[in-house]
Amino acid sequence: MQLSQAHLRTLQTCPRQYQYRYLDSLILPEATQLTETTSQKQGRDFHRLMQQHLQGLDIHPILEAQPELKPWFEAFQRMPPPMIQGQGEAEHVRSLGWQEFTVVGVYDYVIFGQGQAQILDWKTYARPPAPATLIHHWQTRLYCYLLAATSSYLPSQISMTYWFAQGEKGANFYTFHYSEVTHREIHHTLERCLRELCQWLQQYAQGQELPQVPPDQIAQYCSECPFNERCQRSQPNPVSSIAPFLAVLKDLSVAR
Ligand code: SF4
Repeated sequence: MQLSQAHLRTLQTCPRQYQYRYLDSLILPEATQLTETTSQKQGRDFHRLMQQHLQGLDIHPILEAQPELKPWFEAFQRMPPPMIQGQGEAEHVRSLGWQEFTVVGVYDYVIFGQGQAQILDWKTYARPPAPATLIHHWQTRLYCYLLAATSSYLPSQISMTYWFAQGEKGANFYTFHYSEVTHREIHHTLERCLRELCQWLQQYAQGQELPQVPPDQIAQYCSECPFNERCQRSQPNPVSSIAPFLAVLKDLSVAR
């Protein structure tokens, strides 16, 4: 079973949502394609453009066909992130076997330098998240962890840079430096996550569903979740929630 940063993020947020998406396959690929927004598609196309650019291929035909990608590419040319010297590889894939799982990362770009390696990730969303959010994101943690665990680079020789196509001037990238301490922490977190997942999968095989988010987190996670009706955790309809009281009032007025 393959586990990507998206799987780990879903598991961390809500194991039941992981079950619906990846075990029950309730969202089919076709449905996902249909609901892809314009900005998601442009983000995907920009990644393809960057891949070709970094492989030394001619990208002018793409820019002519999709002029909407031009401002982002011009921003990259005007304000590229700092990049180390070394051998770069776009769409680099790394995987690590872990019991019955294979933990996988697909990197936008990795530069393998002398005694240091740099992971780069292109982001096209309108509002870059705060560094404190990104540093705890499973993508940052898993990508640094996988590179350290599957290469000869020490954790202290690895960094990860997020570059934002729509970032403000002077704040269009963040670089996180990895360390031995963080590497150990992530190792323990992964161990715990995969141990829990193993237990849940055994219970699931016996017909038991994976846990939902606890009641005190319903407002935070369930209101926007596409499965909230299935989980019976959709926002109460204001009319239906007061309907029982209206019925009582009506009975009382009839009785008078
Ligand atoms: S509605 Fe809530 S409990 Fe159910 S899958 Fe979504 S986040 Fe999880």
